[in-house]
Amino acid sequence: MDVVVVGAGIAGLSCARALTDGGARVRVVERSPVPGGRLASRRYDDRFVDIGAAYLVADDPDFAAQVDAWRTRGLARPWTDALRVHPGGEWATGPVRWAAPGGLRSLATDLATGLDLRLSTDLDTVPADADTVVLAMPGPQALRLSPPAAIADAARAQIWKPVIAAVLTYPAREWGDLRGAFVNDHPLLATVCDDGDRRGDGAPVLVAHSTAALANRYRDHPDSAGPILAAAVAELLGLSARPSVHTHRWAYAQPEAVDARYAVDGRVWLCGDAFGRPRVQTAWLSGRAVAQALLG
Ligand SMILES: Cc1cc2nc3c(=O)[nH]c(=O)nc-3n(C[C@H](O)[C@H](O)[C@H](O)COP(=O)(O)OP(=O)(O)OC[C@H]3O[C@@H](n4cnc5c(N)ncnc54)[C@H](O)[C@@H]3O)c2cc1C
Repeated sequence: MDVVVVGAGIAGLSCARALTDGGARVRVVERSPVPGGRLASRRYDDRFVDIGAAYLVADDPDFAAQVDAWRTRGLARPWTDALRVHPGGEWATGPVRWAAPGGLRSLATDLATGLDLRLSTDLDTVPADADTVVLAMPGPQALRLSPPAAIADAARAQIWKPVIAAVLTYPAREWGDLRGAFVNDHPLLATVCDDGDRRGDGAPVLVAHSTAALANRYRDHPDSAGPILAAAVAELLGLSARPSVHTHRWAYAQPEAVDARYAVDGRVWLCGDAFGRPRVQTAWLSGRAVAQALLG
């Protein structure tokens, strides 16, 4: 079986890995120069910062086994089971959140190792030269490839919200034990995470994620939202120092959950984090479910 997987996010990589392990011939095509998609770490001042997914939760036994394998090899680390909730700033405990000392993208790089991966290759049509094509990406991105009808319908049914991520680098750590915070009912700010704490190097770096409303307002000039997010974080945490600010806008950040593992029409499949709760684990499971169905 010849398979082309389009998209080297966690869904595409988990699909490609499982297919390869099952004996299929697999080619992965990715438009970016690096794998990972929204499992994204960008280098600032010689240090990686997680600008997409903030952490992993692994409450599925198979994904937990994958995360534990990364832990054993030093690629993933349990970060915290408590985050602050604002307003109020109380601790709320929940599942263990996992982080990666090398940035979360290092986990995608690990999954990609040994795969036939073609980077910097932006497809605008479903490849014709394969028995099977797996589109592992948000539905709106899949629509650009003019997929067959049932895939197009499934893609159009997905509802997505944007987020602007602001990387805030301070002269020194001015906050106490923050770890991360959910910011409820705020017009601008949705979450703040201590990147130095989750990565384990203590760097004075916070990453703020905006509300969808702010990301919509600054769709065409996301850099202008950076100082606004920095000011909101300063007010929330009582910080006085001015950080350097970098922003990244995710047009398709968070989908509303769909009650299926994937969509299929003939030889074309669609998978990703829209097929369940919008999480890394969901994307990993969705890609693997496609592989299992194909190997079936
Ligand atoms: C700001 C933010 C915060 C988040 N926080 C968390 C969190 O704390 N915990 C959590 O579990 N999850 C979180 N998530 C969600 C998590 O990042 C996603 O669920 C997961 O990474 C999605 O993986 P995916 O493979 O489905 O899609 P993606 O990562 O989007 O991968 C799709 C890939 O397809 C490629 N592609 C698209 N079109 C083409 C084309 N035409 N040709 C070639 N390649 C193409 C893209 O470049 C991309 O690499 C967050 C996401 C964002 C954006």
